[in-house]
Amino acid sequence: MGYQYDDQNIFAKILRGEIPSEPLLETEHALAFEDIRPQAPTHVLVIPKGPYVCYDHFAQEATDAEIVDFTRAVGEVCRRLGLERSGWRLIANAGADAVQEVPHMHVHILAGRPLGRMLEPAG
Ligand code: 5GP
Repeated sequence: MGYQYDDQNIFAKILRGEIPSEPLLETEHALAFEDIRPQAPTHVLVIPKGPYVCYDHFAQEATDAEIVDFTRAVGEVCRRLGLERSGWRLIANAGADAVQEVPHMHVHILAGRPLGRMLEPAG
């Protein structure tokens, strides 16, 4: 099947500078910025700059350099925000069942309050 990347998504526009953003961190292959609708006191998105739809697309097709850079960027955001003190959660939504809204690979970093259990029971 394979993933088809649509470059009209909102994060592609942020990466092209068509929509302003204030990055918390920019690396060679990744960008981190605050979520526009935060669900916790800390809610940061980390995205790769490359055209990947979701986490498994990225994990399958990104170069080693992109994957290392992205993973280090997540670590650097955690370090800068001091998240090791109280804990945090990393979420990657992919596709319909996970209600992925933006079809550009991203992870959510959530922290700053007790986050509850990982999943609510299916309703
Ligand atoms: P998803 O459900 O795809 O994992 O999450 C997408 C996230 O992107 C949502 O939490 C949403 O609030 C965030 N988001 C959508 N549009 C924008 C935007 O224009 N700027 C920022 N900073 N975040 C956005």
